Amino acid sequence: MTRFHCPVCQSEIWFHNTDCLACGTALAYQPGQGFVALETAQPCDNRGAIGCNWVALTPGGLCRSCCHTTVIPDLSLPGNDQRWARIEQAKRALFRLLIDIGLPLETPQGAPVPLFEFKGDLLRSGPGPHVLTGHENSVITLNIAEADDAERARLRAELNEPYRTLTGHMRHEVAHHYWDVLVAPNPDQLARIRATFGDETQDYGAALQQHYETGAPAGWEEHFVSTYATAHPWEDFAETWAHFLHILSGLETASAYGLVPVAALADGGALADGSAAQMVRLPMAQLAGIWIDLSMALNAVNETMGHGSFYPFVLSPAVIDKLETVRQLIVAERGA
Ligand SMILES: [Zn+2]
Ligand SMILES: [Zn+2]
Ligand SMILES: [Zn+2]
Repeated sequence: MTRFHCPVCQSEIWFHNTDCLACGTALAYQPGQGFVALETAQPCDNRGAIGCNWVALTPGGLCRSCCHTTVIPDLSLPGNDQRWARIEQAKRALFRLLIDIGLPLETPQGAPVPLFEFKGDLLRSGPGPHVLTGHENSVITLNIAEADDAERARLRAELNEPYRTLTGHMRHEVAHHYWDVLVAPNPDQLARIRATFGDETQDYGAALQQHYETGAPAGWEEHFVSTYATAHPWEDFAETWAHFLHILSGLETASAYGLVPVAALADGGALADGSAAQMVRLPMAQLAGIWIDLSMALNAVNETMGHGSFYPFVLSPAVIDKLETVRQLIVAERGA
């Protein structure tokens, strides 16, 4: 994430702010441009319901993020309005990044893709989620229980995961969509991705079942970014893609706050500004080197506060190669 400032008084504002806390101006975010005073724009129709602070695509309509949501939670159930609001906030942050780095969010005919379905039941006492989070045919389904901190922490412990967030779900699931859009229909890209991640034609259901029965193979850290990535080449791709977005967004934020010198992000003489759009052009080895130093420092800072690690992952040389493959796929799409 970059830093944002009020267009009226220049005070710093957060990406999710609907108003400037310093001067009180009502604000709206215009994707690809930044914040404007709301009086000069049309608010998204979900502004009242969930605090969406984006500009509407058409007067009285939804914004570029909300128009991708086709199923919302049952708002007659207590807490679901807040769950929906948290999920849309994570989705807007995802969309901001995807738009800035030039990935498509529409079909060639202009229809919004991927679409999102946010549904589920109240699961506090249940045996586990009935609505499975996942992706199929350009539709991403998210169980709204993931928006409950307590429920998500319970699932994280049950599945023995080091990291589980709405942000992580968004970045992972959208990877499956981009496989369908950027990889599957393109024989050259498919060959390149297969050479890196393995043969995805192996039975997905059987591979997943085996993963849940036997766990990750010994020594998985040398070749995979997470245990779940070992389940099937599709999941390896999605996990790696998610980590590429973690690193890009993390470095963008760190550079905006001066934690990473912009000179370290120089691009063979080209002007560096530390934006995700600029950094996506840098070789992964350069990005990974900076990221590993930064995340080690932030892990230590987090632990002095009694939190776990900021970034509880290890990037092996083989994983950095996979990240480079994902980076090249994105760069090829944006035509940079
Ligand atoms: Zn202001
Ligand atoms: Zn909206
Ligand atoms: Zn997946």
